[in-house]
Amino acid sequence: MNQNATQPVMPGSMPRRNSRQASIVWGDNIVTIGGGAPVRVQSMTNTDTVDAIGTAIQIKELARAGSEIVRITVNTPEAAAAVPSIREQLDRMGVNTPLVGDFHYNGHTLLHDYPECAQALSKYRINPGNVGKGAKRDKQFAEMIELACRYNKPVRIGVNWGSLDQDLLARVMDENAARAQPWPAQSVMVEALITSAIESARKAEEIGLPGDQIILSCKVSQVQELIAVYRELGRRCDYALHLGLTEAGMGSKGIVASTAALSVLLQEGIGDTIRISLTPEPGAAREKEVYVGQEILQTMGLRNFTPMVIACPGCGRTTSTTFQELAASIQGYLREQMPVWKNEFPGVEEMDVAVMGCIVNGPGESKHANIGISLPGSGESPAAPVFVDGVKVRTLRGENIAQEFQAIVDEYVRSHYGPGAKKQATQEAAA
Ligand code: SF4
Repeated sequence: MNQNATQPVMPGSMPRRNSRQASIVWGDNIVTIGGGAPVRVQSMTNTDTVDAIGTAIQIKELARAGSEIVRITVNTPEAAAAVPSIREQLDRMGVNTPLVGDFHYNGHTLLHDYPECAQALSKYRINPGNVGKGAKRDKQFAEMIELACRYNKPVRIGVNWGSLDQDLLARVMDENAARAQPWPAQSVMVEALITSAIESARKAEEIGLPGDQIILSCKVSQVQELIAVYRELGRRCDYALHLGLTEAGMGSKGIVASTAALSVLLQEGIGDTIRISLTPEPGAAREKEVYVGQEILQTMGLRNFTPMVIACPGCGRTTSTTFQELAASIQGYLREQMPVWKNEFPGVEEMDVAVMGCIVNGPGESKHANIGISLPGSGESPAAPVFVDGVKVRTLRGENIAQEFQAIVDEYVRSHYGPGAKKQATQEAAA
């Protein structure tokens, strides 16, 4: 026996942090955040809200991709006036995803002057650094919270380091200067962010907003700072937390930075809803931020959204692009089917599909997946064995491997997750 093996190695994240649970509601759709609910994926539009049709179409696309909540900018009277029309169009299209209004500077006026907007939104985002200056700050913040109470809407108090309340920052800096050993500037900034979020939440509660209707966020653009801020925020309060690295950036940099920061926090049980702030590449679909959020949660084993494609990276043993094309096409196909499959074939999101480039790891990895295909590498016989639940069932050859493999996947989904599949599984277990 190996004397170093003193206890079993148990993969998995730490227990989720205890938090209050907020409910974001539209009609029958109640999206819970915190309090043990699954970590939610949300997104934000980048259309002009005044363009009600364009905004409704983008929200529909984000919702179809799996965004459970969608935030929209409400920055002008015209935008506030467009919100009820956006909501109406979504309802007509059968999209019941709750909408969050993003307010800065004039939110108190817009929510007051446009009651139908206040009603059509399911949550308000308030940035305490952008609600007004000096004496106006507390008054305007209070007005927004009172309107949230009146319309029974939850609020995200969303602090952002780029728009931190300057009066509060000055106060925290003064307090720091009075310390026998002043903290470094970076720690003072972190302290100011956390203080702004928690003090604003406490104020909102004093005004009458229930604590379980408050969600906090404290976004910064540096990974290590974000981790430090949220660890401390999570320790100091039990409000539900919205995670996100602000201004994460474009392309792989944005994805990697968001994944690095959020993975550490989620692994520690911190975070109840996430938004990935990717800068879209020109012409790229906005849904990418939803898919990245889902993939972070799914690869960490926290939630399942869509069948996972396991594919090898390829190497000198497979010089053709066949397996790359098959991996990409099956990944796209599975994602495309999910809006329908998730209702018709419950549990299908847990399915694994392996697409491997050659015989070295192909059969082994394919046997571990629900369905796997091992394509022929360079110099191997032009045959692709297919494995279903660990058993080799077919060998595909020729030009139509992709179509034939897709048909096998379809059949697997119907027989394993369709009507009657559960009964069959139960009968098998009982036998
Ligand atoms: S499975 Fe084959 S093709 Fe894929 S990385 Fe491994 S050796 Fe290379």
